[in-house]
Amino acid sequence: MIKTGFAVAIDGPVGVGKSTTARIVAENLGMTYIDTGAMYRAVALFCLERGINLHDGLAVGSALTDIEIHLRLMGGLQRVYLRDGDKRRDITTDIRTQVISEGASVVAAHQAVRDKLVSQQKQLAATGRVVMDGRDIGSQVLPWAQVKIYLDASTDIRTRRRVLDLEAKGLPAEFEKVRQETIIRDERDKNRANSPLIRTPDAIYIDTGDMRPDEVVEKIVNIIKLKEAF
Ligand code: C5P
Repeated sequence: MIKTGFAVAIDGPVGVGKSTTARIVAENLGMTYIDTGAMYRAVALFCLERGINLHDGLAVGSALTDIEIHLRLMGGLQRVYLRDGDKRRDITTDIRTQVISEGASVVAAHQAVRDKLVSQQKQLAATGRVVMDGRDIGSQVLPWAQVKIYLDASTDIRTRRRVLDLEAKGLPAEFEKVRQETIIRDERDKNRANSPLIRTPDAIYIDTGDMRPDEVVEKIVNIIKLKEAF
């Protein structure tokens, strides 16, 4: 595939604020935002609805032939559609539950799932100017990206942010439970055999622990502007 684009890869652990940061950075610079986590979430939703055991790599792999995922940008927000047979549904909200978060990190460990989604992600970024966030963007999906960022923050800080988010939505949020869920998903993403979450040596490391979200955005925007200028 011939790539003619300019790409920014943003990776990092659960709940570090990758998606919000990446979306605003893309908006500020008139770039296209691609949230790859949404695609793993779509696979988990599809399999759960069909009663497929998410840990069964063969069963999940066979189901993939029936799945088509489409991402559309509407008013700066990414909407996610799932095509199943001749039906196409908007699943943007359905994929944001805790069950799907957990399920996505299970299906994401299967090679067949990664092969399908990574190939689609590479195509999405082949032309144009994109900001893509995930776990393996700098290492596997866009190793050629002109800018690579690794966002990080301690488990406790990420848990606290998640608890505040949930409380703001009026949802139950018990610190210790959210902390354990974060640790389990991180472990799975970092220790899986296929494309684990890693910080590539050429990625710029940003510890967001003491930073406000707008400071993180500003820092990344400046890095990109500098890179694009040369
Ligand atoms: O980023 P988000 O929380 O939406 O991702 C859901 C899950 O999808 C992650 O926990 C991770 O297991 C998986 N994922 C991945 N590779 C990516 C993006 C997400 O394995 N590029």
